[in-house]
Amino acid sequence: MSDPPKQASPNSAKMAAGGAAGRRAAVPRFEVALVCANGHLLNDRAEAQATLNVKFCPECGEGTLSHCPECDTALRGRFLPEGDPQGGKRLSRPPRFCHECGSPFPWTAERLLAADELAAQLDDLSDEERRLLRAAFRDILTENPRTEVAALRIKRAAEQAGKGAGRILFEVVENLASETAKRLILGP
Ligand SMILES: [Zn+2]
Ligand SMILES: [Zn+2]
Repeated sequence: MSDPPKQASPNSAKMAAGGAAGRRAAVPRFEVALVCANGHLLNDRAEAQATLNVKFCPECGEGTLSHCPECDTALRGRFLPEGDPQGGKRLSRPPRFCHECGSPFPWTAERLLAADELAAQLDDLSDEERRLLRAAFRDILTENPRTEVAALRIKRAAEQAGKGAGRILFEVVENLASETAKRLILGP
């Protein structure tokens, strides 16, 4: 996980300069994001603000990446709307899965692993309950038809786990869950 960041792909810059007429200044596109292996978002405009790119994360010391380790597609950074190639809304957190190949990024996989380790340590769970809890962790990552049921299952597990373990479970959820799932489990 300590590979230096790859050079940001020039593709999107070419696209911005291209366009049907060849003169269109800007089409909507995504910038490239630079993220550390632990999921710290370090730069959401890694192409335009390349001077801010770093090899290692100043927060945690992990190596950084700007491309999917599985398929080498650039990580989606800030969305640049048409006519506003400089602006766009700041990315609030790094993507969890590659939009090109669907692989979970290293920080997503790490958090799932931590959640699974916690599930393994919770007392009073049958093997089946543990299996369902682990499946629920996967289902709260994204918005999908099983998110609500999964959120309910985790909430119940946290209540049953007692104060200490329940609190840790809530912390895991905080890092893992989609916004919707987070609201369902932790409340508004
Ligand atoms: Zn970091
Ligand atoms: Zn990929």
